[in-house]
Amino acid sequence: MPDSAPSPPRLDIRDLHRVFGGHAVVEAATLSIGAGECLCLLGPSGCGKSTTLRMIAGVERPDAGEVRLDGVRVSAPGLHVPPEARSVGLMFQDFALFPHLNVARNVAFGLDGPRPARHARAMDLLERVGMARFAAAFPHELSGGEQQRVALARALAPRPRLMLMDEPFSGLDNRLRDGIRDQTLALLREEGTAVLMVTHEPEEAMRMADRIVLMRAGRIVQTGAPHEVYNRPVDRAAAAFFSDIN
Ligand code: ADP
Ligand code: MG
Repeated sequence: MPDSAPSPPRLDIRDLHRVFGGHAVVEAATLSIGAGECLCLLGPSGCGKSTTLRMIAGVERPDAGEVRLDGVRVSAPGLHVPPEARSVGLMFQDFALFPHLNVARNVAFGLDGPRPARHARAMDLLERVGMARFAAAFPHELSGGEQQRVALARALAPRPRLMLMDEPFSGLDNRLRDGIRDQTLALLREEGTAVLMVTHEPEEAMRMADRIVLMRAGRIVQTGAPHEVYNRPVDRAAAAFFSDIN
């Protein structure tokens, strides 16, 4: 029998809601991400981006709605698969490395299997983020940009089916940022990892996204390719939000 069923999206969220103190901070969030796609969730500070990402990661429980990974429900009414069983990679601005483990061990930390294979996987990723020569160094010996590259290698090591990144580059100096962004994107593409990246910077979303999801006050207001969202803003507020890119 031919295998004709299309594969489900890597991530599919439907009508996700979260209320804090009687106030909906995320309302009816619905989006999906295909295999290998990089989607940027973009919007001003406080609009509910991190809360959305945290519900997908499973560290926050939705008040309503569903999250599916590869078609399998992981959050739904009465169902909550814990974060460690979701096979998602996490990267945050201040997501610290383990201070007492060297770089190679930090990257190999979450891996299963025989030690030589874990070490080989860690070294391969360190090579690809340009950090192999720091394998024996400890986190405090590295700059912020170097730590972020190790954090990326660590997040990708277990081959997560989805990478969740929350403003991962906002702590870095402008000078370093473009290089690390490009390197991150290249590595994610090589690994074929689907990505949801949260950012409040239109320019960053334009540079990294295959698709942009624009969020405002808890709601998704527009979804499209970067050039569509930029050239055909849904309303004046969206146009104003993009206007400071030069
Ligand atoms: P963003 O990431 O877009 O800046 P957040 O998702 O962090 O926005 O926050 C959205 C809104 O929810 C903000 O008004 C924030 O103050 C509020 N919020 C986030 N987390 C909590 C919490 N644990 N308790 C109460 N309010 C929260
Ligand atoms: Mg945030």
